[in-house]
Amino acid sequence: MLTSLVTGTMISFILGLMIGSFLNVVIYRTPRGENVAWPGSHCPRCGESLRWYHNIPLLSWLGLRGRCAFCGEGISIRYPLVELLNALLWAVLYLRIAFPESALPGMASLLHFLMVAGTFSALLALSMIDFEYFAVPDSVNLFALATALLAAAAHAWEAGAWSPLLHALRDAVLAAGGLWALAWIIGKVTGKEAMGGADVIVAGTMAALLGFPGFFLALFAAALLAIVPSLLARDTMVPFVPFLSLGTLIVYLFETPLVQALNRYLYG
Ligand SMILES: [Zn+2]
Repeated sequence: MLTSLVTGTMISFILGLMIGSFLNVVIYRTPRGENVAWPGSHCPRCGESLRWYHNIPLLSWLGLRGRCAFCGEGISIRYPLVELLNALLWAVLYLRIAFPESALPGMASLLHFLMVAGTFSALLALSMIDFEYFAVPDSVNLFALATALLAAAAHAWEAGAWSPLLHALRDAVLAAGGLWALAWIIGKVTGKEAMGGADVIVAGTMAALLGFPGFFLALFAAALLAIVPSLLARDTMVPFVPFLSLGTLIVYLFETPLVQALNRYLYG
């Protein structure tokens, strides 16, 4: 049992590193309107194509001491950082979902895990893009919503019942619709655009993953987390998607203890 848990966590970590390497491509190319699959990786300065051994997550960056092997141009620390973050994300999510009942999880459980991890990876890419460009590409945003709904479908398959999928669809529509309506009203009252369509899609993804009241807890956590940077950087814009993503992760990992603590605090 313990060995299978350790093995599963390690495999998830390595898979997370590889997906993280691909996220770097998504983060660099999507805002530039470039194709993520073609052509292969190349140095943005000298244009030289990277060999396979330049593409090994973490290790290549460390081995090359953060420089291009051909022209010596510095490679941002963002690359190994995204790879490491995504690997940790996959390992933690594996432990959260873990498959205690058997050493070999069934197809449905495995698919459920992969879709949840895929959703959080897409949110990580979205967060990095939002940080750098203050823009959220629809393609990655809709990908996150799709994987969140597919996670619910896999969960339904796992449970042998439709309800997990129906609940996720209902909650996604309620959260996205509610936020859209709220933005519309605020817009009418203040005459200013309150929220973009991108936030509405992120809300749908959050609710599909968390349901209610998890969605509200995540919104609350995101608002709390965003206070400090908003105060520190008063005159610069603070991207909100990274905080929404972090709030979603916290609630996904710790919803039960959070709700218990809140109940104790509110009702004694
Ligand atoms: Zn180069």
